Amino acid sequence: MWAGRVLHAALSRAPRGSRAQSALAQLRGILEEELESIRGAGTWKSERVITSCQGPHIHVDGAPGGIINFCANNYLGLSSHPEVIQAGLQNLKEFGAGLSSVRFICGTQSIHKDLEAKIARFHQREDAILYPSCFDANAGLFEALLTSEDAVLSDELNHASIIDGIRLCKAHKYRYRHLDMADLEAKLQEAQKHRLRLVATDGAFSMDGDIAPLQKICRLASQYGALVFVDESHATGFLGPTGRGTDELLGVMDQVTIINSTLGKALGGASGGYTTGPGALVSLLRQRARPYLFSNSLPPAAVGCASKALDLLMESNAIIQSMAAKTLRFRSQMEAAGFTISGANHPICPVMLGDARLALNIADDMLKRGIFVIGFSYPVVPKGKARIRVQISAVHSEEDIDRCVEAFVEVGRLHGALP
Ligand code: PLP
Repeated sequence: MWAGRVLHAALSRAPRGSRAQSALAQLRGILEEELESIRGAGTWKSERVITSCQGPHIHVDGAPGGIINFCANNYLGLSSHPEVIQAGLQNLKEFGAGLSSVRFICGTQSIHKDLEAKIARFHQREDAILYPSCFDANAGLFEALLTSEDAVLSDELNHASIIDGIRLCKAHKYRYRHLDMADLEAKLQEAQKHRLRLVATDGAFSMDGDIAPLQKICRLASQYGALVFVDESHATGFLGPTGRGTDELLGVMDQVTIINSTLGKALGGASGGYTTGPGALVSLLRQRARPYLFSNSLPPAAVGCASKALDLLMESNAIIQSMAAKTLRFRSQMEAAGFTISGANHPICPVMLGDARLALNIADDMLKRGIFVIGFSYPVVPKGKARIRVQISAVHSEEDIDRCVEAFVEVGRLHGALP
């Protein structure tokens, strides 16, 4: 609508019959055709407008009353934690709204250096570098690190930002089947001719809630002289006994070379991303990574929120344990009710339904019962594997979880997903 109005206004300002007017008319035709093809393919993404803070209970435009939110990456509930908000406010007051600069010109404040040191300490790595987002961290890493002499081996279901980051680099690209270690080994054998080999994987995959077999990946990497890179966006802060991530969960913290992760999910949910790993790599990224060199510094409020989130995690495991207990409660009750939940004890709990229409209808009916969940179908997930993704947070109450399960059972029976 908005784009249409802008184009219309631009068209009406261009002199009649001018070449600019016909170019705009042509653009309008192309855009409308493209938009229609998205609608026709059934892949149109509409956005629900939240009118409250992010949290377990939210208000959504058009839905009467409060609803229970099961589709945010707010795994630890820190997005609206009072101490996290306070830390953001404090930085806003003390360090301003933003830097109006990239880091290497005049955009580095003491708080940026402190947060980088804290991130490196949290992950037990030598150094860390902040980016405006983890998308940017993934866009910056591969191009800066790998040349046409090198190779990157990537899980086929890696996040879009890893795929895009890899596209930007000149290294030889190998794609192995999802979690398939025999295929990874075959690709590693093929890649022996290159200078460096980097295996790249998500730690936890967001569509299935499944976890990369890092022990096996690290074993193969060591056997074939490869480095290991893990995107921990869906693991940092809550996987492993102290929330360090998948590498801690699987006991390979000393074998994963490079970690990228986000501040935009469990760590307060504001925004920001980072790479942590060898000091020399971080130094190289400060010189070469384009999203670092050519994009604004992270705003002080976001730095304050993430920094406080890390403090809270380093002080106590209580939030992590609470999230794990609630995840178990949801998964076990749903399985007992007859649903299939994919993944491995991850707070991403995909309720597998198969049929796209069924997933859509169940998600709609759940919202009518005050439960906000999202259905995913092809092409986001493979054909015939439609599901509703439920995400558990430490700040859901046990009653929230039970209400969600009850609603699933009721709606599932209504639609024939349960006997
Ligand atoms: N990597 C993974 C695995 C993600 O799921 C996401 C976000 O969806 C990102 C990277 C991007 O993170 P950010 O929102 O910080 O750009």
